[in-house]
Amino acid sequence: MIQLPTGIQLQEKTLAFLAKTQHLFMGGEWTAPAEGQYFPTLNPANAEVLAEIPLATSPDIDQAVAAARHAFQNHWHPKIKPAKRSQLIHKLADLMQRDLPILMELETLDNGKPLNKAKYDVLGAINHFRYYAGWATKIEGTTIPVDGHKLVYTLREPLGVVGLIIPWNFPLMMAAWKLAPALACGNCCVLKPAEQTPLSALYLCNLIQEAGFPAGVVNVVTGPGVPTGEAISQHMDIDKVSFTGSTVVGRKIMTAAASSNLKKVSLELGGKSPNVIFADADLKAVSQSALWSSFYNTGQECTLGSRLYVERPVYEEFITKLKEQAEQLSIGNGLTNPDLGPVVSQKQLDRVLNYIQVGQNEGAELITGGERCTGALSDGYFLHPTIFGHTNDDLQVVQEEIFGPVVVVSPFDKPEEAISRANHTRYGLAAAVWTQDISKAHRFAQATQAGTVWINGYDLFDPAVPFGGHKESGIGAEMGRSAIDLYTQEKSVWVNLK
Ligand code: ADP
Repeated sequence: MIQLPTGIQLQEKTLAFLAKTQHLFMGGEWTAPAEGQYFPTLNPANAEVLAEIPLATSPDIDQAVAAARHAFQNHWHPKIKPAKRSQLIHKLADLMQRDLPILMELETLDNGKPLNKAKYDVLGAINHFRYYAGWATKIEGTTIPVDGHKLVYTLREPLGVVGLIIPWNFPLMMAAWKLAPALACGNCCVLKPAEQTPLSALYLCNLIQEAGFPAGVVNVVTGPGVPTGEAISQHMDIDKVSFTGSTVVGRKIMTAAASSNLKKVSLELGGKSPNVIFADADLKAVSQSALWSSFYNTGQECTLGSRLYVERPVYEEFITKLKEQAEQLSIGNGLTNPDLGPVVSQKQLDRVLNYIQVGQNEGAELITGGERCTGALSDGYFLHPTIFGHTNDDLQVVQEEIFGPVVVVSPFDKPEEAISRANHTRYGLAAAVWTQDISKAHRFAQATQAGTVWINGYDLFDPAVPFGGHKESGIGAEMGRSAIDLYTQEKSVWVNLK
């Protein structure tokens, strides 16, 4: 029996899904794990066990990969034509739209996020599938003029079997970011959701089946990084791994790829993104945006502006406002639509609390927050939004990705100082600048070492716009045309016309 806040009810279909025994999804069949092991997935709002999830080990991964390979060779590219692939992806999007309330509830229960934010995620995932459904019929090669009497053209072909390893912060959206382009390009997939949030991916398998995808085109295996994720990254018959998660695990995946079959790897990793506010910015717009770019998804988003730099003349005013707004954010069970839900797990809670302690030890000024929530929220993994002031960019809390509701803020005096401090990080995922001076804004955008720069805005995304990390934030860009490169390979064909 799921514990619910007073007055809240779940959809019948959500309850029915949670009540049934969960299986792995391989070759179009629901299968028990080879070694018979299961692990619990918890509701971070109250630590209640939501379901027991199958733990896939090496023999299961072999079976999923074999099913994907078989589907690739017999039932998918090039047998199923691009227009049909497009139709299937659209159908999946239709079914997700139909089951929107169930998918939202599963995301909220498993991840903790507010229901209205989960809605935004599911709609984003649907959009993503629709955008790439359009691409399926538009993947073209080129003809190349060369010396002599010859014709040269290129073909863009799918890679084959791709392993997709995703994190827990936006479970369904991250699945869509990878599944949609991989399928549109004609690949077969082995998807592993994060062990903290497997429910929405398992539910999605029902919709994949109902949409009519041939068996084995999408396989979903559940389990932790080791052994499940590791078995994917080490597999000899997986052609590519696409990973989103921490930089630490990204390195392990590259090592595993290098020491197995040199599978291709694309990585979307951590960030510690600078959000730079000049004194001439529209401060009203900035302070609302900075609140959300600091604490959205309870700080568990790789692009968040977790390093704020504010020009000195407006620093005090800005901080006072940010503190006031942070203290007013409502915190609670995601099903009641608060501003912030819990962090995802006890492990994440401990990690964030540890960083808060480190920040205090190394002399950062605790402006607000810094504690776990007590009273009615003490069963879940709830934290007060936390702001640290500092003047030293080498502090651990300024350099390392915390992945929780913690933002560090510092004043600056000169534009060049803002740029060099913004770039003083091993990460390069995103950055933002706020100013009314367009030259200053564009100079900043050009000088910043980041894959995405927002001017007078934050966290703007569209499936059509490439998104990837510079420096240690990743390899390869997802979204837009860029993802087509990630899930295809080029073949050059020479025709000797003599
Ligand atoms: P976090 O630290 O935020 O939990 P991770 O980077 O550890 O994020 O996890 C992201 C995804 O990577 C999850 O699906 C997780 O199970 C998986 N993962 C973790 N360790 C490994 C590993 N050694 N090999 C492959 N996948 C892994």
